[in-house]
Amino acid sequence: MIRLKRMAVGAIRSFSSKITPIPRIAIIGSGPAGFYTAQHLLKSNSKLHVDIYEKLFAPYGLVRYGVAPDHPEVKNVISTFSKTAINDRCRWIGNVEIGRDISIRDMRKAYSALVFSYGCQIDKLLNIPGENLKGVYSAREFVEWYNGLPSASTLNPNLDCEDVVILGQGNVAIDVARMFLSPLDELRKTDISEYALDKISKSRVKRVHLVGRRGPLQAACTIAELRELTKLPNCFGIITHQEVEFLREKIKELPRPKKRMMELMLKIADSSIDNKIDFQKQWSLSFFKSPLEFLPSEENPDQLGKIRFSLNKLKDNIAYPTGETVELSTNLAFRSIGYRGVGIPGLPFDSERGLIPNKNGSVINERGLYCSGWIKRGPTGVIATTMNDGFETAKTILEDINSSRIDITSDQLGFDGLANSLKDIKVKPLNYQDWSKIDMIETQVGTAKGKSREKFVDIQEVFKLLDH
Ligand SMILES: Cc1cc2nc3c(=O)[nH]c(=O)nc-3n(C[C@H](O)[C@H](O)[C@H](O)COP(=O)(O)OP(=O)(O)OC[C@H]3O[C@@H](n4cnc5c(N)ncnc54)[C@H](O)[C@@H]3O)c2cc1C
Repeated sequence: MIRLKRMAVGAIRSFSSKITPIPRIAIIGSGPAGFYTAQHLLKSNSKLHVDIYEKLFAPYGLVRYGVAPDHPEVKNVISTFSKTAINDRCRWIGNVEIGRDISIRDMRKAYSALVFSYGCQIDKLLNIPGENLKGVYSAREFVEWYNGLPSASTLNPNLDCEDVVILGQGNVAIDVARMFLSPLDELRKTDISEYALDKISKSRVKRVHLVGRRGPLQAACTIAELRELTKLPNCFGIITHQEVEFLREKIKELPRPKKRMMELMLKIADSSIDNKIDFQKQWSLSFFKSPLEFLPSEENPDQLGKIRFSLNKLKDNIAYPTGETVELSTNLAFRSIGYRGVGIPGLPFDSERGLIPNKNGSVINERGLYCSGWIKRGPTGVIATTMNDGFETAKTILEDINSSRIDITSDQLGFDGLANSLKDIKVKPLNYQDWSKIDMIETQVGTAKGKSREKFVDIQEVFKLLDH
């Protein structure tokens, strides 16, 4: 009898050793980079299984928490991402932060390869005096606040003033400007968080000044975003002739997209002269000014009162101070000079550039580690750029599988091997069904209010809803 049992166990062993192990890849971060990398991997290799980890209770990264609420068409990419998420070989695991809840070391044991696509989570500082005064915010935190990111929902910015200065002229700066200039009835229909809409509707802001340290040719915004500003009802734009007049000479030599952008700027400058007293709101683009110092208001030493700028001249596209300064009075300023990546313990990181050192997505000198998206190339580029980037990383991984540079032959457990350790630290992971339920309720609550969605901002409410 005992012999028979032994034989049976032996038979099972030799049978199981013939089962091909499942190659498992973990993706860290479920923004566009994570989803596009997963999509390409799953499509190109029918054996691969992909687990996508997300630290928040909601997927989609900046598509949910960055893209402006009044640009709903940009969020259509979500339907592509959800097709990937419901693929039988894909698992989305929300509310788990890699590096905090699970170490990189443990992740490496559970997977054949790890892909870091966790984006850029902080922003660049100006490092000038007064940056901590009340009334000086980063555009990032303001964007996160109006988009309902849980950690930013308590920002409660003081918008009780008439002039706002935005330092920077990229698309994010223009998104922030539109929040003050767009008709409230338009914003009301979007997925902007209710508390933000309420606060913005009570704000007294009339004038938004977008200030750049270099000239019009170097402005980082796209023509589509600038044109959108010019079309806002009851609102007029100002560009001073003095700052753009030199373009008339140069414009013929410029490549077509730049030329069209400069033509638009000159048109705005030309129409700025007309009498526009009928308009309720105003925005301006102003150039060749670097902030030197945030100065306190006379009434309150903790509150921003004005900003001192250096006037610049350009040489070889670099801004140099002329020695002259100007001051702009304001109680509210947003720093919009770019995002920045941070490292995760146990992962190589280039702190100078704020990204993971890599070659075509393969982390330098680290077998089995990859990266994609903003944390791979830095915080620039739209979703389409991030898509190509994700595809490139996936191709690198597939090549490494084919050349056996990464080992997919050992039987690794993936998330099943890690779930117990999460229980020990009382972290409750969410799955895509959980998210679908949250998504449905958010949409229902939004529809009842006449808007596209009302986002949850409190994780406890989410758990209550899910009965966890
Ligand atoms: C304000 C703003 C507006 C934009 N508007 C547009 C637009 O209109 N059109 C357009 O095409 N592009 C737009 N972009 C650019 C676009 O959002 C980016 O190209 C894209 O989101 C970058 O994708 P990503 O996946 O690299 O990063 P992210 O989108 O930031 O995704 C990273 C994900 O990783 C998660 N994460 C972070 N750390 C961890 C961790 N330790 N463990 C697990 N998960 C983690 C994050 O929560 C997040 O979900 C905008 C960007 C910004 C900042």
